[in-house]
Amino acid sequence: MKTILVTGGAGYIGSHCVLALLEQNYNVVILDNLSTGHIETVETLKKYGNVKFYNTDLLEPANVDVIFKENNIDAVVHFAAFSQVGESVINPQKYYINNVCGTLNLLQAMLTNNVKKIVFSSTAATYGEPKYIPIDEKHTQEPINPYGQTKLFIEKIMDDYDKAYGLKSVRLRYFNVAGADSKTRVGEWHEPETHLIPNILKSTFNGGQTFKMFGTDYDTKDGTCVRDYIDVEDLVNAHVLALQYLNNGGETNYFNLGTNNGNSVKEVFSACEKVTNKTIAVDVMERRAGDPASLVADNKKAKEILKWQPKKTLEESIKNAYEWEKVNGN
Ligand code: UDP
Repeated sequence: MKTILVTGGAGYIGSHCVLALLEQNYNVVILDNLSTGHIETVETLKKYGNVKFYNTDLLEPANVDVIFKENNIDAVVHFAAFSQVGESVINPQKYYINNVCGTLNLLQAMLTNNVKKIVFSSTAATYGEPKYIPIDEKHTQEPINPYGQTKLFIEKIMDDYDKAYGLKSVRLRYFNVAGADSKTRVGEWHEPETHLIPNILKSTFNGGQTFKMFGTDYDTKDGTCVRDYIDVEDLVNAHVLALQYLNNGGETNYFNLGTNNGNSVKEVFSACEKVTNKTIAVDVMERRAGDPASLVADNKKAKEILKWQPKKTLEESIKNAYEWEKVNGN
């Protein structure tokens, strides 16, 4: 069976993708420096299939090369990156060096070892301030923060590497990823946690901080920001389909991963109250810097070309996230 290198496989989305690949009988090699990923996650993943782990950094090109020499890698799924927008504004160097230089090293090792297929974790943040909603893949890419810039640079590098070296990439532009494994094996585990759903859920436990709602004066249906929450299990399935697409000779391409539906912060909050069956306390705060009012995906392209179909409702995602928080986050 084919072996896939998953960079960032100890992280939130990467770990769910490893499970999806194992379910398709792939062998998985994980590269992760455990800067934000967790060794406990790797130990869990190892229980579910053929998983080999390298605790190393993409900024160590010799170590990356060894992974390709020691394993018969067929394709790469590349998650490893820093992903906090706010931090990227304060410390852009950290982001440019890690995300861009790390990816350059990865691509170099791929070319040296003649591996020419990669699925890359890109982001809706490459679009910047939306000019229209829903956002399709033809929307201009003008990121408004260094995090989005790093992902856009990498997309452009991948285009040039295809033209020059025939390296085929599928770039998946995520909207707001939510939820957890429906069997509670892995879930969202960030320190500190900045994301909406885990923060609401954590606030329901003893010792949890009161949930802070950032901004209620946006030009949206109820004044709070609207986002497109895509379930993590649905999202990683698109990666499996993208690998199949590349294996079938598919050309370099890029796809939005979202649901085509927007939910406001208040709607997400109400859904969390319903799922947890609790009245949740809330502090209404000023707007958080850099949050656009609305971000919603047009996902037609992924449906048509990858035959991808997101299935989970927002409530199902919240339910899985809550089960995970109860076991692991509380
Ligand atoms: N948000 C909030 N309180 C929190 C975390 C997030 O009100 O503790 C809001 C945030 O301002 C944004 C939305 O929830 O409008 C989604 O934020 P998140 O950080 O989850 O994802 P992002 O859209 O930044 O990728």
